[in-house]
Amino acid sequence: MKKSIKVGFDLDGVILYNPFRFLRPLAIPLKEIKPYIFSQKKSLFYFPKTRIEQLLFRLLHMTSFMADPALKDLEGLVKAKKIEAYIITGRYSFLKNDYEKWLKVINKNKIFKGCYQNIDNSQPNEFKQKMIRKLNLDIYIEDNLDIVNKIQNKSSKIFWITNILDKNISYKYKFNNLREALQNLK
Ligand SMILES: [Mg+2]
Repeated sequence: MKKSIKVGFDLDGVILYNPFRFLRPLAIPLKEIKPYIFSQKKSLFYFPKTRIEQLLFRLLHMTSFMADPALKDLEGLVKAKKIEAYIITGRYSFLKNDYEKWLKVINKNKIFKGCYQNIDNSQPNEFKQKMIRKLNLDIYIEDNLDIVNKIQNKSSKIFWITNILDKNISYKYKFNNLREALQNLK
């Protein structure tokens, strides 16, 4: 019997549909000036420390407001034993409540074999890379190009779900949405 493929999924922008995903490129100039605004050691992703920053961050994550319709396709692949599915989210610890609320919705049928949150507040790309290795995933599906470019793992393919503004950037495993990515898992 053929062994099923192990596939990891990002949460925000992949499993949860985010209509504002295309805003990511607009955030780039802000990223450039961030080191001057916040006296935080230079790291790729900003960790909000004060209550007000965390509140804003939480509001931002509320824009991930519905499960992607292709979750049904994903469930079909799991039921047919074609894939083993995992969630790996870079969400920081203070987003735990919202994360767990979403898990009840998207994993009520136990589609996902394991769900992992970045509870130690590591840099999201480092957390994801660590989990991809630990779970020995064949494929990981991500919507953030900065993260896609940071993850280095020869034994896994990193699929990228693009958006209307980044559409012209070339990448080997680039897909328009979750459904299209799922159709190309082979
Ligand atoms: Mg994402």
